[in-house]
Amino acid sequence: MAERPVVLAGEPILRQKSKRIKRFGPSIEALVADMLDTMRAADGLGLAAPQIGVSLRVIIIEMPPQRDEEGNEIEPAQLYVYCNPEIIKARGEEEDDEGCLSVPGYVGTVTRAAFVTVKGQDTKGRKIRTKAQGLLARAFQHEIDHLNGILFIDRIESPEKLRRIEAEQGAL
Ligand code: ZN
Repeated sequence: MAERPVVLAGEPILRQKSKRIKRFGPSIEALVADMLDTMRAADGLGLAAPQIGVSLRVIIIEMPPQRDEEGNEIEPAQLYVYCNPEIIKARGEEEDDEGCLSVPGYVGTVTRAAFVTVKGQDTKGRKIRTKAQGLLARAFQHEIDHLNGILFIDRIESPEKLRRIEAEQGAL
């Protein structure tokens, strides 16, 4: 397990269509472990394999724990690891801010589907499926875009919807 450098916008790998995973097992598990270390070190909420220089269809998302007003954890952090993820249903529309570890220093307002159903496989090749809404639905759409060579800045409708920021938490 190791933290790896995050590939930044401008690198060709972020514009390629990543390859489907056909062989599951230890090499994919090692890749996911590196992705987790890299995402957590960067305080990110999600990461796609091309962001650490690997053109394979693997994404991870970690939703932070839910806390009550006193700061007690009422729901633990939720980790989603998907190989070959696909959105099979999408509905609604929601506009919100998002950032990307590959586009540091910027956030943008992006319109995404409000609800999505995602299917794919885990690191052992078993079928998995998730129904997501809100931030989780946004994160799935952002990460799956990465596998198709799309960045959130491509989805920004007008220049004033992209803003510079100093520090960033929860980027994708
Ligand atoms: Zn991103």
